[in-house]
Amino acid sequence: MGCEHWQTLAARLRADLPDVPFLDPAERPELLTDWRGRFHGQAMVVALPRSVDEVAALIQWCRRHQVAITPQGGNTGLCGGATPGNDRPHLLLSLRMLKAIRRLYPLANLITAEAGVTVAELQRAAATCDRLFALSLASEGSATLGGVISTNAGGVHVVRYGTMRAQVLGIEAVLADGSVVSRLHGLRKDNTGYAWEQLLIGSEGTLGVVTAATVRLFPQPRWVQTVWVALPDLATVAPLFQELSATFGERLSAFELMNQEVMGLVLRHIPQVRLPWTEGIPSWSVLVELTDTVDLPGLSESANTFWQQMMERGMIAGAVLAMNETQRSQFWRFRESASEAQQREGTSLKHDIALPLAELVPFIQAAEHALVRRCPGVRIVCFGHFGDGNLHYNLFLPVEAGCALSKELTRWVHDEVVRRDGSFSAEHGIGQLKVGEMRRYKNPAELALMQRIKKALDPEGLLNPGKVIPMDEVVL
Ligand SMILES: Cc1cc2nc3c(=O)[nH]c(=O)nc-3n(C[C@H](O)[C@H](O)[C@H](O)COP(=O)(O)OP(=O)(O)OC[C@H]3O[C@@H](n4cnc5c(N)ncnc54)[C@H](O)[C@@H]3O)c2cc1C
Repeated sequence: MGCEHWQTLAARLRADLPDVPFLDPAERPELLTDWRGRFHGQAMVVALPRSVDEVAALIQWCRRHQVAITPQGGNTGLCGGATPGNDRPHLLLSLRMLKAIRRLYPLANLITAEAGVTVAELQRAAATCDRLFALSLASEGSATLGGVISTNAGGVHVVRYGTMRAQVLGIEAVLADGSVVSRLHGLRKDNTGYAWEQLLIGSEGTLGVVTAATVRLFPQPRWVQTVWVALPDLATVAPLFQELSATFGERLSAFELMNQEVMGLVLRHIPQVRLPWTEGIPSWSVLVELTDTVDLPGLSESANTFWQQMMERGMIAGAVLAMNETQRSQFWRFRESASEAQQREGTSLKHDIALPLAELVPFIQAAEHALVRRCPGVRIVCFGHFGDGNLHYNLFLPVEAGCALSKELTRWVHDEVVRRDGSFSAEHGIGQLKVGEMRRYKNPAELALMQRIKKALDPEGLLNPGKVIPMDEVVL
């Protein structure tokens, strides 16, 4: 805990709101560090409200006492957004106890749930009425609804269902003045003024605290074909994606690229995973999933014919179809272990980038050439959601490489991405990790607009200060 002043404030908060559960941060130090262990913060106290009214009361109290608020869900974010700063008194506002599923409504294909419900719990709730909550990501056992909305999370099914922005039909939130705004009815048509909830999606807790949301559900797929494809070389990946989109349209539900380095790391660090090939690790592979809500006669046969044709045309070097649900889970477990395997390997330079589809392969080729020349011995871990134009492009540097070289390589990657009309933050957000990149790359007029929005909604700068946009200098 920080200074005596913080302790006095914490004691007063506990006394003023005796019904709210609190924790001393010393009891749960892991809540003050981000998932990657890169950022460490301090909080005067951790609050675990159980209702929107308790969240509102906490925020009103913080406003009265000028205490900063860091909202936190599952703490799986990768940019330090849920880690408080060290510079002033912070309340760590954990939304984990907001756990109610308020409404499950299969007729309208929607579910209304509170912010602390995890993605996996939402998926299970949807399945009880034969529906699908389409977001799927490796952190789904811990990541919460409030967290995935606040980061506009993506995951492996964006190519078919879109990011969280496409899933959200309505939000209930507490604003910086403690007022509660709510539009949870889930109407598909409601043109009554500004869509304020769209502002909260992806705002990483800087504009309001999400306490509940209504999100879209879809019919459960009845036909699923999961295929792990080895590529002859990188050049065939974009034509393969194009053939799949043209042939299967919306049935294409996932298209996940992995390079040899990431497959090697998963094999080294994750127990009981294996590749479906005996000839060693291919230089590139793609995990493809095709789905349909109807198991139409002939669908499997036409998909099999497609793969046969791709082999004959030299577009793929091999394809293994998951024969049952167990094998499908094994394929996905391999792909979803990529982040964990890297973490076990050690510290890497991470880049969560998006590029126009036509630029992905030219970028990968140019980057390998430039980075290996600048830093011989660098290991490039490249994988991700190729179908969304999103790559996780991570670098393990030789031990002798210093901090200056790390910065130079990240600068090179982000400069090159932006030069190709891409984004330096595709799905993980900005948090505190990339505030400097916002300053460097974001168009000044856009940055100024964001600052005006922030000032309008949070004039005292209490909600997650130091995250997303630089507020220390006014751009316009
Ligand atoms: C192994 C692993 C795999 C991942 N894979 C993907 C992936 O494929 N795609 C992807 O997009 N992301 C991925 N992520 C990162 C992703 O951002 C998070 O998993 C998820 O979106 C964060 O949810 P959370 O509840 O843990 O939020 P937290 O980490 O707790 O918070 C994230 C941000 O949201 C804010 N926040 C949290 N809850 C609220 C709330 N209720 N109201 C307002 N603000 C709030 C926090 O202040 C913080 O700024 C992965 C992370 C891990 C660890």
